[in-house]
Amino acid sequence: MVILHSPQKESPVETFSKTGPHKDRQSVPQAGNGNLTVLAGPSGVGKGTLLGRLLKRHPNIQVSVSATTRSPRPGEIDGQHYFFVSKSRFKAMVENGELLEWAEFAGNCYGTPKAPIELAIAHGQQIVLEIELLGARQVRESLPGAKQIFVMPPSTDTLERRIRRRGQDSEAAIAQRLARAKAELAAADEFDLKIVNDNIDNALAELEAAIFD
Ligand code: 5GP
Repeated sequence: MVILHSPQKESPVETFSKTGPHKDRQSVPQAGNGNLTVLAGPSGVGKGTLLGRLLKRHPNIQVSVSATTRSPRPGEIDGQHYFFVSKSRFKAMVENGELLEWAEFAGNCYGTPKAPIELAIAHGQQIVLEIELLGARQVRESLPGAKQIFVMPPSTDTLERRIRRRGQDSEAAIAQRLARAKAELAAADEFDLKIVNDNIDNALAELEAAIFD
């Protein structure tokens, strides 16, 4: 059984079924899961930038658009960067089994809509999920053939600087992200491959090699 993190007391999702994201996992086609890549790694490590570069070079790769209860940052577009949904809508998505995986992160919920993943797998299309650790663990259970890649910062100092430099989050959210980053780094060995994002070109080359090997 997949163990989800314990929701915080004030969590809008405290009544969610712990097995909700997986109850109809059989409906996800199992063939061709090797086309699915999970890209994880602590907040601020540069996963988004890496993915942006990957997409420029390989426009046929599909990147999953997650649902989140977080508010949009300046420049973020609904339906492109995320589906920005209310807490009640997110709760309904969980309860209806619409999400392949979901987790709470720094006070907000994030989840991967299942239907586009099913379609991409059915069509043999390359698809990448950029998600945090708890979600990656859930995908490891439901789609064991998927590639699991972890992006590492060159150092924890660099990571902290990047998280702070973004300057779009509150101090409380920054503190939560830093604490979570430490927990995520401790789990790096769970992944099939670790890529150190020291030099973006090298990191991109390693990611490409992993996806297309
Ligand atoms: P941010 O708020 O910085 O966009 O994202 C915070 C964290 O949530 C990042 O580590 C990001 O990878 C992760 N995340 C984004 N979408 C999803 C999702 O659908 N599921 C899970 N489990 N994590 C996600």
